[in-house]
Amino acid sequence: MVLSKAVSESDMSVHSTFASRYVRASLPRYRMPENSIPKEAAYQIINDELMLDGNPRLNLASFVTTWMEPECDKLIMAAINKNYVDMDEYPVTTELQNRCVNMIAHLFNAPLGESETAVGVGTVGSSEAIMLAGLAFKRRWQNKRKAEGKPFDKPNIVTGANVQVCWEKFARYFEVELREVKLRDGYYVMDPEKAVEMVDENTICVAAILGSTLNGEFEDVKLLNDLLEVKNRETGWETPIHVDAASGGFIAPFLYPELEWDFRLPWVKSINVSGHKYGLVYAGIGWCIWRNKEDLPEELIFHINYLGADQPTFTLNFSKGSSQVIAQYYQLIRHGFEGYRNIMENCHENAMVLKEGLEKTGRFNIVSKDEGVPLVAFSLKDRSRHDEFEISDMLRRFGWIVPAYTMPPDAQHVTVLRVVIREEFSRTLAERLVLDIEKVMYQLDALPSRLPPPPPPALLVKKKSELETQRSVTEAWKKFVLAKKTNGVC
Ligand SMILES: *Cc1c(COP(=O)(O)O)cnc(C)c1O
Repeated sequence: MVLSKAVSESDMSVHSTFASRYVRASLPRYRMPENSIPKEAAYQIINDELMLDGNPRLNLASFVTTWMEPECDKLIMAAINKNYVDMDEYPVTTELQNRCVNMIAHLFNAPLGESETAVGVGTVGSSEAIMLAGLAFKRRWQNKRKAEGKPFDKPNIVTGANVQVCWEKFARYFEVELREVKLRDGYYVMDPEKAVEMVDENTICVAAILGSTLNGEFEDVKLLNDLLEVKNRETGWETPIHVDAASGGFIAPFLYPELEWDFRLPWVKSINVSGHKYGLVYAGIGWCIWRNKEDLPEELIFHINYLGADQPTFTLNFSKGSSQVIAQYYQLIRHGFEGYRNIMENCHENAMVLKEGLEKTGRFNIVSKDEGVPLVAFSLKDRSRHDEFEISDMLRRFGWIVPAYTMPPDAQHVTVLRVVIREEFSRTLAERLVLDIEKVMYQLDALPSRLPPPPPPALLVKKKSELETQRSVTEAWKKFVLAKKTNGVC
């Protein structure tokens, strides 16, 4: 690689403009370079390239935490070299993860005695947590079917079409049929009645979402529980519920303590939550909590012996960092219930400020609910000249990252913009964003429409040349629409 060959010995002694010499040639992208470069140069080159990434704090596309207190940053840096899996060497870290599991299980109303240990595990995120929960359901269902002498080769799982991609991954990776309840106009979460209709003897669980990724709405877990109760009683099946509370698990207990969505409902057997979303920790931590020991089949647990004590583990990964576990413990004890409630109330209020500001423009329909994860999802009332993707593009010029995406079937004709409100998104920023959206709308009004005209109705077209024109317009339209895929939503 030319990179370091271009540097002569004499150049090395000049330090003032150190990195510029190393960037005269393109940076290595395919092969590791032959020679070393000074650490300062490596730092500057990489740091400079990273400047082109978006600003995480203005990334309104994501639920994932982008700010923590400096004291916690210190703890994170101090633990950056600790491998979580070395439980023998780092027993305190293991203990902190167990304390987090206990606290979160209590938060979700697990049926536990005051000093009883909860059943749960720290993971890399909700996706890993969901794989584990899904595996536990699958194994439990298989064991039951085997004991009954019935076939156990066609497991299925019932969800709404609004599920996060990790459920599709679970279904594909672990060979479980995914049965999705379709959405419809104006109703963007799983309909519990339709979900229970889809349940059969091969259903390993119904997955409900507390805080749909698409519009933040809470699904009606209580109704689902009650309907399943009836069906289970009638059929003798024991179809359980998993709640994907990736985003809502740290919202509902603080803002809607009366809402029954968790282990208060008897058919809820496991719950996942992302520590790195409203758990307020940087990316890399999630939790899976089971109701009881019986809900987590023993054969899935591996036992590691640490300091003479048995440490059960159930994860997909072996090695991983410890920092996130420590940071989660920090947040739980630093804020306490009171602190989390304050933060979540603040997020909710800021979401309402943004919502009201958007409503005042008269240009948008709001598709998120006031009760739910603090986010505002909205779509254009009039899409005849411009669409939500253009608004998303233009907001980038103001530094805002606001994704636009189409809804899943059968509401795929609906496009929404979504702004997630996190702890660090202040009232001032919310007001500023409304102003910038108004500016964008003003600029768009002054621009010619970028949308190709929709194809004319085929019946009215008679001449061959007209038919050809129609075909090419239709193709252009299709291409245009297809290019607008959902992206960057997590
Ligand atoms: C974010 C999210 C996930 C995936 O969680 P990760 O922690 O990013 O792995 C799953 N389900 C829902 C509802 C989510 O919002």
